[in-house]
Amino acid sequence: MRQLKLASRIDGIEESATLALNARVKQLAVEGKTIYNLTAGELACETPAFIQAAVAKTLHLNKYTPVAGLPELRQKIAAHARDFYQADWIQPANVVVTAGVKPALYASLLALVNPGDEVIVPSPAWVSYKHLIELVGGTMIETPLTDTFDLDPSTIADHITPKTKLVIINSPHNPTGAVFSDGALRELAERLKTTDIVVIADDIYTKLVFEDCTPLSTYGFNHLVIVNGFSKSQALTGWRIGYLIADEAVAAAVAKVLSHIMGNAAVPSQHAGLAALSHGDKPVMLDVLRVQRALVESGLRAIPKLKYTLPRGAFYFFIDIRAITKDSLSWCEQLLDETGVALVPGEAFGAPGFVRLSFVTDDAVLKSALRHIKQFVEKGPA
Ligand code: PMP
Ligand code: GLU
Repeated sequence: MRQLKLASRIDGIEESATLALNARVKQLAVEGKTIYNLTAGELACETPAFIQAAVAKTLHLNKYTPVAGLPELRQKIAAHARDFYQADWIQPANVVVTAGVKPALYASLLALVNPGDEVIVPSPAWVSYKHLIELVGGTMIETPLTDTFDLDPSTIADHITPKTKLVIINSPHNPTGAVFSDGALRELAERLKTTDIVVIADDIYTKLVFEDCTPLSTYGFNHLVIVNGFSKSQALTGWRIGYLIADEAVAAAVAKVLSHIMGNAAVPSQHAGLAALSHGDKPVMLDVLRVQRALVESGLRAIPKLKYTLPRGAFYFFIDIRAITKDSLSWCEQLLDETGVALVPGEAFGAPGFVRLSFVTDDAVLKSALRHIKQFVEKGPA
């Protein structure tokens, strides 16, 4: 058969490295290998019982909803967000419900980015931003975070050109677990004040913080699009339920785009969102995560060659292995082969010489994994 020619926009697109690795590691476990999977970008628990119970009562509902979501859900999201962000401007008309944060991001980019526009993304960065930006014909401009993974507003400002349309800010941050400092966020807002540059705040980890932090939108960004959802706070990754908050014109444009490419988010998932908000969208596993973070920290402290900055949010340590190698891909492969411990190589996030450790798994797995990592590092290269 003759080779089918795919559209050129697909040429540079790779499958999400984190999803692919997680699937591969799960497959190795199914095949019988003992695996310590520290790659996951999702909580380990099941759907919370109160959400299961609430959604069970709605399973007879089978009709399309408005593309932007059930009116009562948009209302609840708006009320919750007004309170959470202390932002009076957030009304139901500013909210669009989506099937997870990914479509919220993609539809925002479709609505805002022209081919040739530049989108600044502080780096290291979550795997999908680059591909989402390229799919809409934009160019990702990476600007480094500081050594302690804080936002660096002056470097961002240095990279602004007439083509700059957007800056994507993700705090708490994947893959580093950093929560960007007040000072840096205020300075960025100040520097963007005289521009028309839009800030997309990817707030998906915003409920998973181990210390108090001021939510992003209070910094007074001129043009702000917030994307958020229930994947991480409520352990609902597979349910695909998220939302976007933006000014009315952007929200309406996003809903128009979604009316063609997605339609409404699944009805049971919208009811799961309603149930979550009835409980204040309180994160389901924060206390457990706090204990697990301490456990990993004490394990890493015993391995002097590995450097880390304590994550203040999300559920990732981003570990500097440059004292050993810059080739984290090979290092992770070898670690997996020899010990069964699976980490995500920093290359997936544009940061060779680092590895991401996700601490969502149970204590016994974390303890064994850290013991294996210590032995592996002490043994040195094969
Ligand atoms: N943004 C970041 C920073 C993420 O880590 C993820 C991964 N879950 C997403 C967005 C996508 O979230 P969702 O699963 O709700 O689409
Ligand atoms: N965002 C999570 C992660 O970085 C889940 C996987 C994905 O969506 O890429 O691992």
